[in-house]
Amino acid sequence: MTSAQFPLPVPNLDNQEFFDKCREHRLVLRRCRDCALFSHPPRPNCLNCASDNLEWVESKGRGVVYTFTITRQPVSRAFEGRLPWAVVDVKLEEGVHLISNLVDCDPEEIEIGMAVEVVFEEVNAEITLPKFKRVS
Ligand SMILES: [Zn+2]
Repeated sequence: MTSAQFPLPVPNLDNQEFFDKCREHRLVLRRCRDCALFSHPPRPNCLNCASDNLEWVESKGRGVVYTFTITRQPVSRAFEGRLPWAVVDVKLEEGVHLISNLVDCDPEEIEIGMAVEVVFEEVNAEITLPKFKRVS
């Protein structure tokens, strides 16, 4: 019996730049040049004004835990040995939300409103994921 492959994002035309910059340990977000709205995940048009005049802007990488959930039952073999698995919704200072995980934090210690900052986890040669750690 082999364990299932852990699911990873598959970069596409809209988010390739996001993952390229993650490999450089930089967190970038899409911002509309016409109305200045940040949006995530990256998409070809602004959610507010539908403009395709978008730019990539480096995020400060700081935010707070907006909400979270903890999985205690394996929904996939890929999670064997990784439970409990905490998924956090981080609201960045730029106003957008990133779904991620916290590192170096017991799931029982996660609190809504906890200040966090980005760190990067190099999963393989192609994928580096933005994760978050508590700001002490
Ligand atoms: Zn816009």
